[in-house]
Amino acid sequence: MKITTFEAGYIGTNAFLLTDSDRGEAVLIDAPHEVELGVRRVLEEEGCNLTTLILTHGHWDHTGDAARIKAMGAKVLAHQADRALIETPSIMGAFLPPGIEVDPVVIDQMIGEGDKIDLLGQSVEIRHVPGHCPGNILLYFADEGAAFVGDALFAGSIGRTDLPGGSFEQLANSIRTRIYTLPEETRVLPGHGPETTVAREAHSNPFVPAK
Ligand SMILES: [Zn+2]
Repeated sequence: MKITTFEAGYIGTNAFLLTDSDRGEAVLIDAPHEVELGVRRVLEEEGCNLTTLILTHGHWDHTGDAARIKAMGAKVLAHQADRALIETPSIMGAFLPPGIEVDPVVIDQMIGEGDKIDLLGQSVEIRHVPGHCPGNILLYFADEGAAFVGDALFAGSIGRTDLPGGSFEQLANSIRTRIYTLPEETRVLPGHGPETTVAREAHSNPFVPAK
């Protein structure tokens, strides 16, 4: 599995395209505005079809191109708690910068805490990590030693908790019980900024230190 990272959209949101050219399949994690062209280019280079789009949560900067990506034939997976944000993005209208539009997209499959899903032939564990957003999930690829965490945890920081549905206490609990409990060498690939590791954050994150 190869991971291609795109930083895209209006506020620099990470999307991750996972490709397996032996299988000819690909999976996209998050869909910021204007990621579609880059995704198409890599799919062509790698000879892969995009089967699945997983939304780590429903904020507009992660879902801006979701409808376009779905139109490429990908099935959309997300958490029930962010269904309204994803399927009716106009409810976040007050938080959208002027002139930015987000098309609604229908979720094909709900995923949540403890689910094991098959992606590119690997068993992937879903963990629910609310606090930044009610429906934030992480995807843990044990075989790869990598976790895609959305906006729960960043290198040296954490997701903001002042948006609707946010809670610092809930986020701190999610990070301690669902992220710091992963093997400490696990790569952490967040929704914004550079990647980090479980060990680095557990030992030095200033906002949520491990207890
Ligand atoms: Zn967010």
